[in-house]
Amino acid sequence: MVVGSLTVETDVVVIGAGPGGYVAAIRAAQLGFEVMVIDSQKGLGGVCLQEGCIPTKALISASDYAHAIQNIEMMGIEVSGHTVKVEKMMAWKQGVINKMNSGIANLFSKYGIEVIEGKAEFYDDHTIHISGQSDINTLKFKHAIIATGSLPIDIPGFAIDGTHILGSKEALCLTQVPKSVVIIGGGYIGTELSTVLGKLGCQVHLFEMGDRLIPMLDPEIVSVVQKKISNFGVTPHFNVKAQKGEVTQNGVTVTYIQDNQTKTIDVEKVIVVVGRKPNATALGLEKIGIQLDSHKFIPVNEKLQTVKSHIYAVGDVAGQPMLAHKAERQGKVAAECIAGLPSAYDNKVCPSVVFNDPELMSVGMTFDQAQQAGFTPKQAKFPLTALAKSYFANPSTVDGFVKLIIDEKTGLILGCHGVGPKVSEIVSEVTLAIELGATAEDIAATIHPHPTMSESIMEVADTVMGQGIHVFSQPPKKK
Ligand SMILES: Cc1cc2nc3c(=O)[nH]c(=O)nc-3n(C[C@H](O)[C@H](O)[C@H](O)COP(=O)(O)OP(=O)(O)OC[C@H]3O[C@@H](n4cnc5c(N)ncnc54)[C@H](O)[C@@H]3O)c2cc1C
Repeated sequence: MVVGSLTVETDVVVIGAGPGGYVAAIRAAQLGFEVMVIDSQKGLGGVCLQEGCIPTKALISASDYAHAIQNIEMMGIEVSGHTVKVEKMMAWKQGVINKMNSGIANLFSKYGIEVIEGKAEFYDDHTIHISGQSDINTLKFKHAIIATGSLPIDIPGFAIDGTHILGSKEALCLTQVPKSVVIIGGGYIGTELSTVLGKLGCQVHLFEMGDRLIPMLDPEIVSVVQKKISNFGVTPHFNVKAQKGEVTQNGVTVTYIQDNQTKTIDVEKVIVVVGRKPNATALGLEKIGIQLDSHKFIPVNEKLQTVKSHIYAVGDVAGQPMLAHKAERQGKVAAECIAGLPSAYDNKVCPSVVFNDPELMSVGMTFDQAQQAGFTPKQAKFPLTALAKSYFANPSTVDGFVKLIIDEKTGLILGCHGVGPKVSEIVSEVTLAIELGATAEDIAATIHPHPTMSESIMEVADTVMGQGIHVFSQPPKKK
């Protein structure tokens, strides 16, 4: 590396320090490369750490405690009077972010990974221009990994002003709980934020364009969340088209169309969370012959190479699903492929989790998808009311179930979808089972510790084979 001039050179440059980029950088450094990371924002960890996964989950956990202490009388614990200090809660959340941020910075320093703060744009096949505070403005590279993530989608009539009309980033930094909000978008971010604010005492109106929440997940698991969400002060509104938000003296008047009627509602704030789009249009890719696909993602092959084989793309910018754990996996694969290792992003499945109350988890195919894919699927459900641990995991939310889909001919596991307390923690077992080509019998014959939520996976595997222990399975008729 040539230091001390405005031009530097490196083996591998990573653009973006989110979960795709920072993981790629660490793996590339482990493999012996000289690595530089460019990020336009201060702080490492990208959207996930700074304004996504971690702040939301920190606030979900804080609001869960705030809600739980009012609902544990059944355990003999009576709490009289409690106060939520939002500024302190936000400071605690920021503390968690800061700790994770310094953890990454520390690792970077141990691996000798240099970070440049600035906005990167390709100049030619081996040169990047950097604009920003850094005195380095040109970087020459042998390999590049693009990990620039995604940006929030705007909707007309709701320009984010950071005060009355917010995006998810601003909503995660509120200093007071608003009395009322309209949240536009009933996907996973919208439902998670609704539950946080509802549990903290805000009156939430959740607007969804379709006829159900979290449309990407199995409708049966979502229906449990949908029924419960009103217990937390959230009113879902379906088939709603939000038209405009007009700032008034007291807040915002939201105009929307529902059932062919134009309606209005007055709230203190509006939060717009209608989805995210890949962040690839300002990278100068047209200058180096990389074209985006019809959804504006950067097309990549199994090695995560773009059409320029020394330039890779990972994470949200490289296609669906836009999830942090997919980005991390792709970051590792890209670094290993640069090193010539036989690595590929050929995972069979990518799990999803949503941290509602109760939580949702999903991996692999639903029953209908399995049928459409030509399998003869068989499914079974195991109710979490039959599992003692559910009653301790979240005393106010025992309802839920885990559903397993297998191929009837081979017993191979095709998918698993669940709703209930802490089910986010048990999806990895089924993910591994699918990756390894395991059968229901393999899971049922594996000893699971008691009492844990993971037993539900063993129980549902037994149940799908007609030998459930804690649910009744009809024995064959006696001859
Ligand atoms: C509110 C919210 C909650 C979420 N919750 C979850 C969750 O629970 N679980 C989950 O798996 N996912 C969650 N996600 C999604 C998750 O955050 C993303 O999938 C993940 O961050 C993608 O990682 P990435 O590395 O692709 O990019 P990002 O994390 O988006 O990082 C991209 C980085 O690139 C930088 N950058 C962009 N352009 C340039 C440029 N030209 N030059 C230099 N730097 C640039 C950006 O500053 C940014 O730091 C959530 C997202 C949001 C918004």
